[in-house]
Amino acid sequence: MEKVMTINSGSSTVKFKLYEMPEEEVICSGNCERIGEKMGIFTIKWGTNKESYECLFPTHEEAAKKVIDVLLEKGFIKDFDEIKAIGHRIVQGGKYFSESALFDKKTEDLIESLIPLAPLHNAAHLTCYRAFKEVLPNTPAIAVFDTAYHQSMEEEDYLFPIPYELSEKYSIRRYGAHGTSHQYLNQMGLKYCEGIKEPRIITCHIGSGASITASKDCKCVATSMGLTPLGGIMMGTRSGDMDPSVFNYLVSCTGKSAEEVYQMLNKKSGLLGVSGISNDSRDVLEAAEKGNKQAITTVKLFNRRIADFIGQYYVRLGGCDLLVWSAGIGENEPRTRSEVCKLLHDALGVELDEEVNSTIHGKEAVISTPSSKIKVVVIPTDEEVMIARDSYRIAHEIKK
Ligand code: ADP
Repeated sequence: MEKVMTINSGSSTVKFKLYEMPEEEVICSGNCERIGEKMGIFTIKWGTNKESYECLFPTHEEAAKKVIDVLLEKGFIKDFDEIKAIGHRIVQGGKYFSESALFDKKTEDLIESLIPLAPLHNAAHLTCYRAFKEVLPNTPAIAVFDTAYHQSMEEEDYLFPIPYELSEKYSIRRYGAHGTSHQYLNQMGLKYCEGIKEPRIITCHIGSGASITASKDCKCVATSMGLTPLGGIMMGTRSGDMDPSVFNYLVSCTGKSAEEVYQMLNKKSGLLGVSGISNDSRDVLEAAEKGNKQAITTVKLFNRRIADFIGQYYVRLGGCDLLVWSAGIGENEPRTRSEVCKLLHDALGVELDEEVNSTIHGKEAVISTPSSKIKVVVIPTDEEVMIARDSYRIAHEIKK
């Protein structure tokens, strides 16, 4: 039994989880919030226990120290060396990483070179990696990329139709995101595809950020997010795909700068922007049920865009053996699953068992009828366990 820690960092947060491997048992989890602010918050959970209190984190380094100190204090580890690997989630791996990698100088430099593609995320990941390196200098660190799973796409699936030399010069292409989740869902989905050679699986990771991926034999063939997570289906606050000329037209109509419009498409669009109510699907659905017209339109647009992508990927895969719902909305929202599947019924023969579907919240289950042409399942995603698995595996490989 060995302990592995996973880290998911942002510019002002560090989320951590400590695992016993290879059992994949969670020992504890928690987070440091509001790093760099006047006062931060530290939270740790284990079993049914939870502690949360104010704590000052001027930089990521204090946060890293706090995490390790608390693990020692609470006896979750006896000394530093007990942590055999730290796995860091990295949002953008560009074209360089098609799998997880040991965090050495070369990996660090490549992640740094990708900062222009994911300015907030990759910079924060590096800051956090360096902070933990200070505290645990001898523990192998592993970089696990959100984009790696999507690197198996073919050129005609990842290229945008702009001048080719610009795509080449600036590495412009579809990178996708949520790759760790889509890979996990494919692996978990295999048991529903027994006897099928090269199963064709469409995974819908529908949370606040949302993406859909088409995979064949657990390899990504196409995915909805693009150069950045702004592309693809409509999300909580992001627009997803649209006619690119909207961007230019908005700049000229509103007098806002390109950067301001870009922020608006990322933070003020999607469910929030169309409904004017909330970025949380529960609020929008509730308003729609009360008859709010704007909310009704928003819900229809949201569902339509998901169904359209599923249809597109059905064609791309030449059929579909399994449709998977996951993440905040996909796991917990029977109304969205039901309405989208109704849109798929006439063309693809998808049929949900509405009674079963209505009872499934956050747990794995088959929700289609036996006569549905495509099996539909809910599978709760677990990106952290994938990070822990890769970190454990790579830490062992380098020991050999
Ligand atoms: P992200 O990880 O991208 O921030 P999540 O996967 O947590 O997002 O999903 C957030 C979305 O999921 C919100 O729109 C929220 O309404 C929805 N959601 C989360 N939990 C539930 C729930 N228990 N019931 C219904 N919807 C939920």
